[in-house]
Amino acid sequence: MDGTAALPATNRRINGRRLWDSLHEMAAIGATPKGGVRRLALSDLDRQGRDRFRALCEAAGLVVRVDAIGNMFARREGADPGRLPVLFGSHLDSQPSGGKFDGALGVMAGLEVMRTLDDLGLQTDAPVELVNWTDEEGARFGRSLMGSGVWAGVYDPAVIEAAVDLDGVSVGAALDAIGYRGAEPAVPFPADSYFELHIEQGPILEREGVQLGIVTGAQAQVWWDVVATGRDSHAGTTPPGARQDALVCAARIVDLVDRMMRARGEDGRGTVGQMQVFPNSRNVIPGEVRFSVEFRHPDQAEVDRLAVQFPREAGFVARDCGVRVEMRELLRMPAQPFDADCVGLVRDAAARLGYSAREIVSGAGHDAVYVARHVPTAMIFTPCKDGLSHNEAESIEPGEAEAGCQELFEAVVARACRVVA
Ligand SMILES: [Zn+2]
Repeated sequence: MDGTAALPATNRRINGRRLWDSLHEMAAIGATPKGGVRRLALSDLDRQGRDRFRALCEAAGLVVRVDAIGNMFARREGADPGRLPVLFGSHLDSQPSGGKFDGALGVMAGLEVMRTLDDLGLQTDAPVELVNWTDEEGARFGRSLMGSGVWAGVYDPAVIEAAVDLDGVSVGAALDAIGYRGAEPAVPFPADSYFELHIEQGPILEREGVQLGIVTGAQAQVWWDVVATGRDSHAGTTPPGARQDALVCAARIVDLVDRMMRARGEDGRGTVGQMQVFPNSRNVIPGEVRFSVEFRHPDQAEVDRLAVQFPREAGFVARDCGVRVEMRELLRMPAQPFDADCVGLVRDAAARLGYSAREIVSGAGHDAVYVARHVPTAMIFTPCKDGLSHNEAESIEPGEAEAGCQELFEAVVARACRVVA
């Protein structure tokens, strides 16, 4: 069934040195003094990164298209014009104090896949397309997975176009300013599959000494905005029985979130990451606290249970504190399993190449999660040092980048050359 079986895997090596050099060529654009990258979506530095990416793609003989939200697609034709393209890629934008590899690894490894196909004189049966999704990070306009989300129909394009950054610059104006509002509509076109290589951004692969993560899907999430309302009163004169302390209530809810997470073992995730205390004065019992709550879990049923249990239990905590709590559910994202056949190709490739690998569920959001709503999708993770990401110290070893890229090459070529009925 595997149309690539005639070519032994060992004869098809990507060039690890060339990949490493191209990663650092990209990292020089927006490089920070601490060794990281600041390349915010649709900024002039993002334009420079895109221009460089486009030039490198065109030098490799690829034809580059840009869609209305700035997503870039670099195509290499296949032998069979009737086949749908196999897509792969990631994103070139970064957090304000981001690392060199988050996103860029998947894009530059994709370029290395294209260059290796050229080196080998190998034309796949299906066309292959390398993608740079616009604004994965959401750091500037507050919408993560923006380009893939518009493409996949998750976001209303008109709402996104009007979204503004802290300086009041809209997405539409920023696209025009850098010249990346493309002619083609940002809608899902028919595609055979999508593969994304990304750093894990967590500690599991490194801790277990495993070279690759075979990503089986993304976990379900539920997010709330919570407002606890008590009563401002004098810190020195208000005895315990007369207090309605919104911060004590919030603290107990933080503890509740942590306990509900830990009750779910290693797969549990529960976080309060943001909190505002009012009036935030040393001598005043806080009358109002606003905070975020989120839970994530690979199992949809667990998140569905948490979505019911957490508000109820938080309500009991509030009653005991004499505080009123309002909760607004902001987001409920279903678990997104990846395509069994595509995941199978990733698993087979690791076995063929002799890489140690384990199955893993993505803890972070990725463009692949939205693409997977329309196109059979899989992801590959490589370890990163100390599991650190969204940090200028984010780091991977050259051998880890090479293994991830080789794995991506194998999976993409297997898919693009598979025999279809
Ligand atoms: Zn990323």
